[in-house]
Amino acid sequence: MQYVSTRGQAGAQPELQSFSQILLGGLAPDGGLYLPQSYPQVSGAELDAWRSLPYAALAFEVLKKFATDIPQADLQALTTKTYTAQVYCNARVGEDAAQITPVSVLEREGDRTLMLQALSNGPTLAFKDMAMQLLGNLFEYTLDKEHAELNIFGATSGDTGSAAEYAMRGKRGIRVFMLSPHGKMSAFQCAQMFSLQDPNIHNVAVRGVFDDCQDMVKAVSNDLHFKTRQKIGTVNSINWARVVAQVVYYFRGYLATTTDNAQKVSFAVPSGNFGNICAGHIARMMGLPIDRLVVATNENDVLDEFFRTGVYRVRKSAETLHTTSPSMDISKASNFERFIFDLLCRDGDRVRALFHKVETAGGFDLSGKPGSDGDEFSRVGDFGFVSGKSVHVDRLATIRDVHARHGLIIDTHTADGVKVAREHMQSGVPMIVLETALPAKFNETIREALGRDAERPAGFDDIESLPQRFEVMDADVANVKAFILNHTGL
Ligand SMILES: *Cc1c(COP(=O)(O)O)cnc(C)c1O
Repeated sequence: MQYVSTRGQAGAQPELQSFSQILLGGLAPDGGLYLPQSYPQVSGAELDAWRSLPYAALAFEVLKKFATDIPQADLQALTTKTYTAQVYCNARVGEDAAQITPVSVLEREGDRTLMLQALSNGPTLAFKDMAMQLLGNLFEYTLDKEHAELNIFGATSGDTGSAAEYAMRGKRGIRVFMLSPHGKMSAFQCAQMFSLQDPNIHNVAVRGVFDDCQDMVKAVSNDLHFKTRQKIGTVNSINWARVVAQVVYYFRGYLATTTDNAQKVSFAVPSGNFGNICAGHIARMMGLPIDRLVVATNENDVLDEFFRTGVYRVRKSAETLHTTSPSMDISKASNFERFIFDLLCRDGDRVRALFHKVETAGGFDLSGKPGSDGDEFSRVGDFGFVSGKSVHVDRLATIRDVHARHGLIIDTHTADGVKVAREHMQSGVPMIVLETALPAKFNETIREALGRDAERPAGFDDIESLPQRFEVMDADVANVKAFILNHTGL
């Protein structure tokens, strides 16, 4: 399996890359994102055989179609090591590894069924663990083989940073330097990250806001000499291995819900950077019988706007609204280019022109109206995509309604998913909402909605009182460079 860039020059010999070659990198050299040259297909016989597999074995079957340059025995060892009951099952689902990403019925009305797939039983209680844990093991494996080291440098407002740190803690050859806005994360999120005592994890609390942190990361990345010398890498959501690891739970959700392959299911996905639902798109392109892919956004509705109108209009980062589903607060959706590449029949020249227009003119228009950049919006339905939006009052109402009717507390992002899913239900097609976090992470809003606290899984009872280790710093690029150099000794 070889990989191409979404901006690959048509006509010119595309620069093909293997899975391992793109594993540690971010963007392709031409500024595009990597995708497989063609999507591997699954047969009905494979789906039948996979229906009863435990999660780790299913992950191996799916991943080996993409990571063809990793010896199969090694890949199997990596998936077995990653997807264990110890890592993925908290007290809620017990210690049964077969129960990784369990699907349950939330409500049934006639032949309309709304289901929840639990993705947030990993160490940081959000779905990002599902992919990040595998990434940690893949990185360690690859670096080990090459006797290389890697310093991961990033900025976080919460979920990504903690998932990355828990995935990389104690890993040979890897250090993590994570910037976060000082005093801006929830007490729970601070405790999760700052209580890590592993010597390879470095938390820097920056006096400023998230955008200041991100600007510092950009400034350091633009210093190519420093970046190369310090072996700086990233684990952001455009990383291909993260996307492909997420494909697995769409298979799991489908297989757990159906008994034969003539049946279809739909998925509703709380979305920000389009990474999670992009994995659903890939599963569908592989032949998994998915009917609809429902994009659920919060007040930051860049994606909902596109899927309703065909106009992609990114916001300035200062226009990003701070909401009560903060992990979906984005001004542009970094994985969206992957879908546009497929929507445009993989015409790299046009993708490059459109995303150049995003930089220069703030967006593009595929509505087909006079003066637009194309009419491909008319084909969006062929890919199953529909969308909707949920705002703070909807979120509170959905949390209250689900709690009153089903006695279950769902998190704010999942509530956005449930709200929008209910608008797209169809007879005879189960709708699976991906649960992307546990409510304990966003307890302030749970208290606002219900007047009570969300339960914390075992082991998280008192994390705020654990000793914390972090460095406070001004938003100063020279300072952070000195800090990195000091710890890498490179
Ligand atoms: C990251 C995140 C999302 C958004 O996922 P994308 O892949 O960026 O679309 C939704 N919910 C939670 C809880 C998250 O952490």
